[in-house]
Amino acid sequence: MPLLEIKNLQLEFGTVDRPHRVVDGVSLKLEAGKTLCLVGESGSGKSVTALSIAKLLPSPPVRYVGGEILLEGRDVLKMPPGELQKIRGGVVSYVFQEPGASLNPVFRIGAQIKESLTYHRPEKANDAEVIRLLKLVGIPAPEMRLKNYPHEMSGGMQQRVMIAMALASQPKLLVADEPTTALDVTIQAQIIELLQSLCEQLGMAVLLITHNLGIVGDIADDLAVMYAGQIVEVGPVRDVLKNPLHPYTQALIHSVPKLGRDVTRLTTIPGTVPNLGSIPSGCRFHPRCPKAQPPCSTEPPELMTLANSRQVRCPLWDSPNLNQPANGSL
Ligand code: SF4
Repeated sequence: MPLLEIKNLQLEFGTVDRPHRVVDGVSLKLEAGKTLCLVGESGSGKSVTALSIAKLLPSPPVRYVGGEILLEGRDVLKMPPGELQKIRGGVVSYVFQEPGASLNPVFRIGAQIKESLTYHRPEKANDAEVIRLLKLVGIPAPEMRLKNYPHEMSGGMQQRVMIAMALASQPKLLVADEPTTALDVTIQAQIIELLQSLCEQLGMAVLLITHNLGIVGDIADDLAVMYAGQIVEVGPVRDVLKNPLHPYTQALIHSVPKLGRDVTRLTTIPGTVPNLGSIPSGCRFHPRCPKAQPPCSTEPPELMTLANSRQVRCPLWDSPNLNQPANGSL
């Protein structure tokens, strides 16, 4: 049984009369101890999907209109509030971007970590355990650091504190939502290495949400690509990066700047992710897809299962011209 299995999840915002489907039929699986990366541009539904795992989105305005989120086999969407409270932190913990905004500026970081321990492991709510957690996430001189306020630490150190706080409850699943976005490039690499080593040491599963395809090859086992509320491609990370099948995945990969490539303009994907009130008919990517054919604008493609645990939402995935980078902006 997978640790996490999302089946055909459907979420809506807006009013009952004018609903906006922000997540439409998302299905994902994550085994214990594995790392799944969920990528896509801003507005594709990644964070909303991730926050639903512990039902953290307030309802209303969100309506869970269909599907299941099975965490250790139990459907989160049907849990009573008391049980939900136990799995938040107890089974799944979150690390968000902008640690400076997540930490409380008026409490020392030791007290903030101890608060999490008090709730989830009261027998360990002491300085020795806080120091052990700070050491685990690579903070030097933890005996001194636990007395610091957040503003006395750099962004990278603050993010390590957030990870320590998330680990205090010994979760089985860590959801890291753009954990490196607000950090500079060298610190980003350190945080990704830290997540990777914690995953190995603690046998914890990680769901990493990012729009940065440049980092996923180093950490992920599997990769899922989202566009406009739907999964468009899933597979083992190396296979997807080496041989992307969906035109959107191909476009994302070609948009990653490469050192040594002699270019005058960086590659971009033309257009923007559609807003919720105007999702295109047919294939949601067709207005931006350089390989679109006439039926693409009217026939919504299904997510097809292929060999080697791969899935793709494009009936033309094996057309010879679709596996080549397009001319022009892709
Ligand atoms: Fe492009 Fe058509 Fe495939 Fe959609 S279905 S990704 S528009 S080729």
